[in-house]
Amino acid sequence: MHLIKIKLISYLAFLFVLTSRLHAQNKNAVDQKTQLIIHVQLIDGTGKPAYSASVRMQGKKIIEVGQLKANTNEQVIDGKGLVLAPGFIDSHSHHFGDLDSHPEALPTNNQGITTIIIGQDGESFPMDTIAKRMKAQPMAINVGTYTGQASLREEVMGEKDVFRAATQTEIDKMKGLLKKELNKGSFGLSTGLEYEQAFFSTKDEVIQLAKVAAVAKTRYMSHIRSEDIRMTAAIDEIIEIGRVTKMPVQISHIKLGMKNDWGTAPQLIEKLEKARAAGINITADVYPYTYWNSTLRVLFPQRDYTNPVSAEFAVNQVFDANQSYLVKYAPIEAYRGKTIAAIAAMRNEKPSVTLMALIAIASDFKEKNPDFKGTIDAIAAKAMSEKDVASFIAWPHANICSDGNAGGHPRGHGTFTRILGKYVREDKIITLERAIYKMTGLSAKHLGIKDRGVIAVGNYADLVLFNPSTVKDNANIQDSRALSTGIEMVWINGQLTYKNQKATGNYPGVLIKR
Ligand SMILES: [Zn+2]
Repeated sequence: MHLIKIKLISYLAFLFVLTSRLHAQNKNAVDQKTQLIIHVQLIDGTGKPAYSASVRMQGKKIIEVGQLKANTNEQVIDGKGLVLAPGFIDSHSHHFGDLDSHPEALPTNNQGITTIIIGQDGESFPMDTIAKRMKAQPMAINVGTYTGQASLREEVMGEKDVFRAATQTEIDKMKGLLKKELNKGSFGLSTGLEYEQAFFSTKDEVIQLAKVAAVAKTRYMSHIRSEDIRMTAAIDEIIEIGRVTKMPVQISHIKLGMKNDWGTAPQLIEKLEKARAAGINITADVYPYTYWNSTLRVLFPQRDYTNPVSAEFAVNQVFDANQSYLVKYAPIEAYRGKTIAAIAAMRNEKPSVTLMALIAIASDFKEKNPDFKGTIDAIAAKAMSEKDVASFIAWPHANICSDGNAGGHPRGHGTFTRILGKYVREDKIITLERAIYKMTGLSAKHLGIKDRGVIAVGNYADLVLFNPSTVKDNANIQDSRALSTGIEMVWINGQLTYKNQKATGNYPGVLIKR
């Protein structure tokens, strides 16, 4: 009897210890530290007018929005009457390459970006590679990716053999690879049809791949085949891909890049609206600059880099030699930062002759330095009219993207703050709420992201606190890495990553899967 009693008591004691342990674990989960942001004008990313409210976060998520009182022991952040918005989503980014060495992600954080979507213009890393890199070096930015057609071509056809149409056998191999990537969480298929690695692919090749993306219920995103001389055909091609596949298609960094076409944004928009009215889900993203950034070779739409007639055409129609800067030039460092016109003057040549020479020197350099890593040449080419840029920014179906990287073009550091400073506050092209929608809720919709882009209960706590009366970009061609003004704090997945123009050292970014 005594023995049974002891056994019973120890059994009860064991039960007690067990249940209290379980209870403690539960309590821990419930008590997981909450943070409350008070005293802000909330712009929630849906386009709805700003209103005053508080936001409570717990762990990675937003758990309450409204008129909230602080709990005891809760961390309270005073927003001082500034604007709290969802963290900005950059639908077309080239920032990833710099993140291994600079995981604090200042180029993106300083402009309020919390998510970048990479794999654009047809060039991508496999999902597993991105996951591995983010695990090896955590980052202060969320990353999602499309799968690039050019990368698929390079893998299947070989890097040196992509300057032709693919065979059916090769297309079938690409389809298999694409399907695998989409199953791993890639957002869809991206193409960069203007670049040599994809320029020679037929419309049929693109459509066959796009159909694979459509079957997987994903999306198509394209730097279209031409942004100048064959623009009309290029727009027709993406509209047709949307019609045939019935999936959402997006024009990357929409622009009118040829002087003869300047001022025709309203006509292009009308054409896109007509396609939308016919049931094609076509959208665009756009960056707020009148100059693009790419290789010198893009200035030759016919890819005939030694043809003087084409060089003259480039100077007259495709870019402005007086306002276009060589931002990178590995062969001759002295040319970096100068306009093409200034380099031509140094060389005692016409700008068109200099243009051909610069391309020839660059390709010679590439041949002699096969191991050279990085960009050999890059030009920030003034090629658009301000009026067209503003029209595209105002188009209701265009979201904002940077197309930027860590250096080179100022868009890499200043795109989103430039929209808020110049296009909202100074030029009044769109309202603040509309602009935020175009950087958050609309972008998420265009990309198929469900739990980011809007400040709502259950969504991830990606947030940006900024001053609407001072926010502005400071990056320009001369100083492309200057940080923006007015972005006060940035949170990614509930953790503060940026404050007072400095990184906090937190690296909470995740790989976002479709
Ligand atoms: Zn592009």
